[in-house]
Amino acid sequence: MEEEERYITLMHVKDYIFCPSTFYYKYILGIREPVTELMQDGIREFTKDSDRYEERKTLLARKRIRVDKMLFGVEVSSKKYMISGVVDTIYWSNNKLHVLEIKAAESRKLFPNHLYQTSIYALAVEDVFNQPVYKIAVFYKKSNTWFERRFTSQLRRYSINLVQRIHRALELREPPEPVMDKKCRSCFYRKFCHG
Ligand code: SF4
Repeated sequence: MEEEERYITLMHVKDYIFCPSTFYYKYILGIREPVTELMQDGIREFTKDSDRYEERKTLLARKRIRVDKMLFGVEVSSKKYMISGVVDTIYWSNNKLHVLEIKAAESRKLFPNHLYQTSIYALAVEDVFNQPVYKIAVFYKKSNTWFERRFTSQLRRYSINLVQRIHRALELREPPEPVMDKKCRSCFYRKFCHG
């Protein structure tokens, strides 16, 4: 396998956090879920968003964050963690590095999967920029809600462990034990798990 093929992306992280069985069906067996209208909306929203550098600047100004420098749509590729992808926004405030992810959705709480997706990107950002990330933030556009967390050593350790588990799942190619959860009800793969 080529080295780049062993890199994981945000989609791997997202699917693994949602459910290791979903991850297995998708990336080991190659069974893909048909694209729904909701997913298409997300893709359209992302495309629309991708040239919105000014929108990020305005958002940070509204949050009264003094930004020394900001990068938008940053392609990162970390050799150390074998993660690649496009990070929404990176900015420096008081010389401290921050990672921001913007979600099109509406939410009054920070979903753990969004926190961990962002923290895994923070690992890659630290590796690429050779500087520790100070804080990570998630902004939900529809509800105008902003959440931020310090990128603590505990969160860093948890994220490294998660990355290692995902790489291991890709190497071992073993089916995980399916769980019975309320998310199974609307899951495309339920016929394979609970059919
Ligand atoms: S049906 Fe449940 S256990 Fe199976 S992939 Fe979906 S969420 Fe995971």
